[in-house]
Amino acid sequence: MVSRKYVYLFNEGNAAMKNLLGGKGANLAEMTNLGMPVPQGFTVSTEACTKYYEDGKELAKEVIVQIYEALAYIEQITGKKLGSIQNPLLVSVRSGARASMPGMMDTILNLGLNDKTVEGLKNLTNNERFAYDSYRRFIQMFSDVVMGIEKRKFEDILDEVKELKRVKFDTELTASDLKDIVKKYKVLYEKEMGKEFPQEPKEQLLEAITAVFSSWDNPRAVVYRRLNDIPGDWGTAVNVQSMVFGNMGDTSGTGVAFTRNPATGEKVIFGEYLINAQGEDVVAGIRTPHPISRMQQDLPDCYKQFVEMAENLEKHYKDMQDMEFTIEQGKLYFLQTRNGKRTAQAALKIAVEMVEEGLISKKEAMLKVDPKQLDSLLHPKFSEKELKSAQVIAKGLPASPGAACGKVYFTAEEAKMHHEQGEKVILVRRETSPEDIEGMVAAEGILTARGGMTSHAAVVSRGMGTCCIAGCSDIRINEDAKIFEVGDKVYQEGDYISLDGSTGNVYGEAIKTVEPEMSGYFGKFMNWADEIRALKVRTNADTPRDAEQAIRYGAEGIGLCRTEHMFFDEDRIPAVREMILSKTEEQRRKALDKLLPMQKEDFIGIYEAMENRPVTIRLLDPPLHEFLPQADKDVRDLAKEMGLSFGELKTTVESLHEFNPMMGHRGCRLPVSYPEIAEMQTRAIIEAAIHVKREKGYDIVPEIMIPLVGELKELKFVKDIIVRIADEVIAEEGIELKYMVGTMIEIPRAALTADQIAKEAEFFSFGTNDLTQMTFGFSRDDAGKFLKDYYDKKIYEFDPFQKLDQVGVGKLVTMAVELGKMTRPDIHLGICGEHGGDPSSVEFCHNIGLDYVSCSPFRVPVARLAAAQAQVKNKRY
Ligand code: PEP
Ligand code: MG
Repeated sequence: MVSRKYVYLFNEGNAAMKNLLGGKGANLAEMTNLGMPVPQGFTVSTEACTKYYEDGKELAKEVIVQIYEALAYIEQITGKKLGSIQNPLLVSVRSGARASMPGMMDTILNLGLNDKTVEGLKNLTNNERFAYDSYRRFIQMFSDVVMGIEKRKFEDILDEVKELKRVKFDTELTASDLKDIVKKYKVLYEKEMGKEFPQEPKEQLLEAITAVFSSWDNPRAVVYRRLNDIPGDWGTAVNVQSMVFGNMGDTSGTGVAFTRNPATGEKVIFGEYLINAQGEDVVAGIRTPHPISRMQQDLPDCYKQFVEMAENLEKHYKDMQDMEFTIEQGKLYFLQTRNGKRTAQAALKIAVEMVEEGLISKKEAMLKVDPKQLDSLLHPKFSEKELKSAQVIAKGLPASPGAACGKVYFTAEEAKMHHEQGEKVILVRRETSPEDIEGMVAAEGILTARGGMTSHAAVVSRGMGTCCIAGCSDIRINEDAKIFEVGDKVYQEGDYISLDGSTGNVYGEAIKTVEPEMSGYFGKFMNWADEIRALKVRTNADTPRDAEQAIRYGAEGIGLCRTEHMFFDEDRIPAVREMILSKTEEQRRKALDKLLPMQKEDFIGIYEAMENRPVTIRLLDPPLHEFLPQADKDVRDLAKEMGLSFGELKTTVESLHEFNPMMGHRGCRLPVSYPEIAEMQTRAIIEAAIHVKREKGYDIVPEIMIPLVGELKELKFVKDIIVRIADEVIAEEGIELKYMVGTMIEIPRAALTADQIAKEAEFFSFGTNDLTQMTFGFSRDDAGKFLKDYYDKKIYEFDPFQKLDQVGVGKLVTMAVELGKMTRPDIHLGICGEHGGDPSSVEFCHNIGLDYVSCSPFRVPVARLAAAQAQVKNKRY
């Protein structure tokens, strides 16, 4: 039997093979094919990773055989041999998933070194210091990544020796210092593992590959995947590449660079490098690197060659590239290229300018910006006025723009905990590491004392759109004492500070923020998105203020106006309660008469704000007890106010109690019991529309929506009330007015009988919040408590209340669309559940042929771009 191919040499792949080779592997193959200087190696495929998990976390024999074959080939072309003393081959082992997951998985460098090959390396390079520096790095990385021994324990040894030798930088350590460190590291390893540091290079290699596969499932990778919609079954590939050395003296170095500035989008080569260093020194933020332009003076030929190749890579990939390179004794090598992560501002500028440069089309530009990122542009900036009087206490690198204000916390756990308690938090760390991911997600802003523009903190915050200041060496952090000091001032845990991620300024106080502007690149790009998309974007808004906000963000109408929110207003609640506590229809009508003018005013405000745009108003939905107090003290107060006895009111409150309110007396079930509520609301809607039509001349077609329908007859019952009242008001007013009556589809039975429902409904709006909870059978209010266990146990990978479950709930939606159209081919279709603002769900809505999505105002731009992307991908069926 011919075995499946699990291992690919770099010259056997190409950029299109991302799924199999991972992003890094596919691009290494592509660069090899382009004839670029890439140290040779091979990729163990993502299929091998999947197999590894299928086989119970074991590397299959056939995979091992293919690894050894590829290794033999690399040995042949490099003329070096793994484990050879005369000419040792050393390799790096790195993870590389389909989508880039910066810092989320693990890398091992200098693999192949042992007590003998280190001597070989010394003789070969005539550089003892270099050889032992490489060895001590390898022991440290292997121990940390493969064996899980804490890195800190190795750093402590390094610091001790540095202190003893009275030196500040690692580069000042001599060969004999490093030899001493290696010895100490090995003792530590033996103590921790109960066995010697492995001396057999092939054993090292297989252990390392296994560790990378295992790291696909480490907790920080799992969290990152959930945040970035990356499925767990993709797996990671592993790249094994022959080493080149940036730590071979002053004509060697290593760096990371972007073809454009990832923070601002400016078109200049941007990056950092370190002379005489290895890769992890730059990204780990341990030494603060130099800007790449310095390389022009230090190594001018390499710089020229680098810039030329970088520009070619950008043209080839038609996107901004993020590259890692190493210079070994004056010779340049590319170790990696990928489409670079960037801030939202940069993404927009780059996309627009690439269209203007003729490099890409407008349609291609749509795919260069992640819709979720737009969110960060809509958030407030510091008020200029307040900023003028604010005191800059320190300055760091402007790593990720935006304004953040919050209380200082020094650990990811504290930041997360206080965020969950409702505080705005700023995470302050010496440097961040991938373990900090949850604290970083919780933080408004991140401040680090060490690290450059490409440090972990910088890269991850830019990806998340979170404000970040890195490398702020003005501050001295004492993480144990939970303080940081600037000059002689001390800031403690819980103190307020503010960060400006665009300037790098740190302020020792809270600063007010203001709304951002929606012009420039943002405006231009979003106009292109609007030209391209087919799906309309409406908003969920209950007040004129939200409606106006949404229009500024580009909303084309209101898809859901929830009327209950208006009833909670201080002026209204007494009349609402009077209505609920009425014993007769007559009393109820009296209370509703009080509400009518207020409700009419609400709708006038909304119609005026929306001008000629369509507005869907939904009849009252929640169960009535939500409007009544529950605690005895509050019941007593209300009883007094309403002239009732405590006992009487308490009895009513108890009689309205429901065991499962989400499935209780709510939605269209209310007007079935109390038609007069629907009558009042219909009258208010129609009178408001007529008023605004007369006053402003807007062409208003009220869309009245009935919630929670599950049966045609109940829909017809409520619709008849609406039509009777609407026609009555229109006749009273003597004016022409068209209106529509439609329904939410949010009960599975409504979806299943959508062909019948469509006989009476002129439009469907998918209420996927309720539809999700009723389909899964768990309540949206309680699911949060146990969904985490489902993620941990890998039963679910995402929250179905945020991202539509296309397999189950989506099947009901698709079915309802088809059934609805069978009865009423021109039925108007939209979605108004939370999913209307989630990019993957928007794409689904486009594909199944909905007319619009409706989402909260802040997510309108996200939905506009997601809709344009869906059109570009064009899978409408
Ligand atoms: C829904 O159920 O999706 C919906 C929009 O209604 P609500 O969230 O108000 O129940
Ligand atoms: Mg609902």
